Amino acid sequence: MNDVIIIGGSFAGLAAALQLGRARRKVIVLDTGLPRNRFAGHSHGLLGHDHKPPLDILAEARQQLARYPTIRLVHARADSVAGAIDQFSVTTGDGQGLEARRLILSYGVADQMPDIPGFADNWGASIVPCPYCDGFEVAGQHWGLVWSGPQSHNYVRLYHDWTDRLTVFADGHDIAPDIRADLERRAIPVVEGRVTGIARHGDHHATVKLDAGPDVAVDMLFAHPRNKPSASLHESLGLATVNTPFGIALQVDERRETSMPGIYAAGDLANPLMASVTAAIAQGATAGISAQQSMLV
Ligand SMILES: Cc1cc2nc3c(=O)[nH]c(=O)nc-3n(C[C@H](O)[C@H](O)[C@H](O)COP(=O)(O)OP(=O)(O)OC[C@H]3O[C@@H](n4cnc5c(N)ncnc54)[C@H](O)[C@@H]3O)c2cc1C
Repeated sequence: MNDVIIIGGSFAGLAAALQLGRARRKVIVLDTGLPRNRFAGHSHGLLGHDHKPPLDILAEARQQLARYPTIRLVHARADSVAGAIDQFSVTTGDGQGLEARRLILSYGVADQMPDIPGFADNWGASIVPCPYCDGFEVAGQHWGLVWSGPQSHNYVRLYHDWTDRLTVFADGHDIAPDIRADLERRAIPVVEGRVTGIARHGDHHATVKLDAGPDVAVDMLFAHPRNKPSASLHESLGLATVNTPFGIALQVDERRETSMPGIYAAGDLANPLMASVTAAIAQGATAGISAQQSMLV
């Protein structure tokens, strides 16, 4: 019997495995190799690894985990999960059955690309979600924000720390009069109409095509498509979730235990607020340590 099966072996899952391996616990990490930021050329903001390609950071982490004889990294998809604390079973996509006393879910979320030509192709290059990740490199330049609802108003204030050249694309949203008044006070233009296409020139520089009116060029476009968990295992387990403006997240306590005893969750899958590599690693480490301490005799 394994001590822990970790489902999702990216930043959160590998951080959990590291703590468990150092505590000499028997761990299997299942991973399909599709981290959320794989579209980005560089990852920013992780101390000691700033401005490195995300896949290089993960490859280095996997190499370091090879020191620990009780950690097994397996390239496989977890297809189904059953059981209860001390006796969970996981079936992989290739039909393998695995058992463990604890589970850590760290399978992340997938951003749902809108059906706009050029959007998916430019995601992570000229269209990005987060100024902490990609703002510094384009500070002071002309940014665009695709409105996704009232929560977009918060981004307007936030972005001001990076640039005072912002254009809002309403993208068919009814922006409330008080928010419009605030945008006007800040001299932020609002471009009406729906976004119908995005073209990239050079490294970033997006040209936004609209159903009414001329194209508008910006140096970087910020957008926040809805996301959804990358797997539905939590649904079959009936785990409690919380709603966020962008999707759902698993509900966890301060030790990162979900609503079901013995199942922990970490990373974007259970982070309703500020998704980042740093947060995923911290939460993964906490989940790993919590799972280990829950098995002490
Ligand atoms: C374009 C973009 C740029 C970003 N840039 C930055 C940045 O510069 N700095 C920063 O801090 N954050 C950045 N982020 C956020 C960052 O990508 C996430 O916060 C981080 O990847 C979360 O790590 P995670 O381990 O929770 O999930 P992920 O990294 O998404 O990993 C989940 C893993 O689970 C695997 N998986 C999924 N389903 C299964 C299954 N059923 N069985 C087995 N494995 C499965 C996936 O293949 C994947 O490897 C960016 C995000 C985007 C979209």
